[in-house]
Amino acid sequence: MTAAGGADPGLIDDLVAANRILYQEGVVDGFGHVSVRHNRDPGRFLLARSMAPGLVTAADILVFDRDGNAVDAGAPAAYLERFIHSEIYKARPDVQAVVHSHSPSVIPFGATAVALRPIYHMSGFLAGGAPVFEIRETAGEASDMLIRSPALGAALAKRLGAASVALMRGHGDVVVAESLKLAVFRAIYTEINARLEAEALRLGEGRVSFLTEAEAVAAAATNGAQVGRAWDLWKQKAMGGKP
Ligand code: MN
Repeated sequence: MTAAGGADPGLIDDLVAANRILYQEGVVDGFGHVSVRHNRDPGRFLLARSMAPGLVTAADILVFDRDGNAVDAGAPAAYLERFIHSEIYKARPDVQAVVHSHSPSVIPFGATAVALRPIYHMSGFLAGGAPVFEIRETAGEASDMLIRSPALGAALAKRLGAASVALMRGHGDVVVAESLKLAVFRAIYTEINARLEAEALRLGEGRVSFLTEAEAVAAAATNGAQVGRAWDLWKQKAMGGKP
């Protein structure tokens, strides 16, 4: 029995793998986190204790309530930014998993007027674009940039709206999906898309042909059915063992 007793052990295993995969693929480093909605209580979610994602084991997974409080009163320290997760689950009943990272290639797109747009078919989920969250509008000019309160989490969730990805100016991004594996997939391809888009903007001297809205939507639908194939590869690489 882990600290997240009552949750599906398979879901806990997948959440551990998600942490390791996001580290392996360069989306998170010593910071960043990934959560999944509780399989038995949609008002709760599973998230590791405050620690580096690449080191997370099943024993580190905690249960949080809808306001971002650890359910177990004796729980170890939680991530300061757990309200990113709690407020998005509250605002988006369709969302089953949330990734927050400081995905490096994405940062420039939150800090400039250049929009993050789908440059190839693997990032069709960026159809409609990725809104940019400006923390100054809620926290003023002197915050430490962290989503450290429910009010800041709610403001971020509002800016995310119905999108799959929101950029956080001067900080990172948040990626959501209707499954944990798809959230991991999107977080990885958000990072890759940002890298490719920056390269294309340089190579094309600012003139780049992006996917149309219809192309992006169609590509996302096709890729959504193929996520398991990438997950199996990433998991083997991150966790070791046989395919
Ligand atoms: Mn952060």
